[in-house]
Amino acid sequence: MLEISGFNFTFDEKKCLECGGKCCIGERGYIFVTPNEIKQIAEFMNMDFESFCLRFIKKVGYRYSLIEKKMQNGMGYACVFFDEKTKQCKIYQKRPSQCVRFPFWEDYEEDFKDLLKECIGVVKK
Ligand code: SF4
Repeated sequence: MLEISGFNFTFDEKKCLECGGKCCIGERGYIFVTPNEIKQIAEFMNMDFESFCLRFIKKVGYRYSLIEKKMQNGMGYACVFFDEKTKQCKIYQKRPSQCVRFPFWEDYEEDFKDLLKECIGVVKK
């Protein structure tokens, strides 16, 4: 069970195995990545930085995000690296820090009900 001081909930990572990747799918959003993270993911995929950016990155103001794809089952969108068959992240070892930190996002401190819709692994303290 993971806990981070300042957050009023705990997180059981084992629940990820049965969840089906709800935090990687759904409505459109942003999966922010830093230039350094982009570099690491590109290396992980044996791609050069420029080709990787052209294929998988969109600019959002002064930031960068992984692109999304339409889900094959018509149920909204998914991160481009979400594998719909296995329900897993294809770049898990190099996933962006935004994904590593989930569900410990500041927005969820105030809105636990909203978080529960996305994550079955959280328990209010
Ligand atoms: S990078 Fe991986 S963990 Fe992050 S949203 Fe995409 S599929 Fe999910």
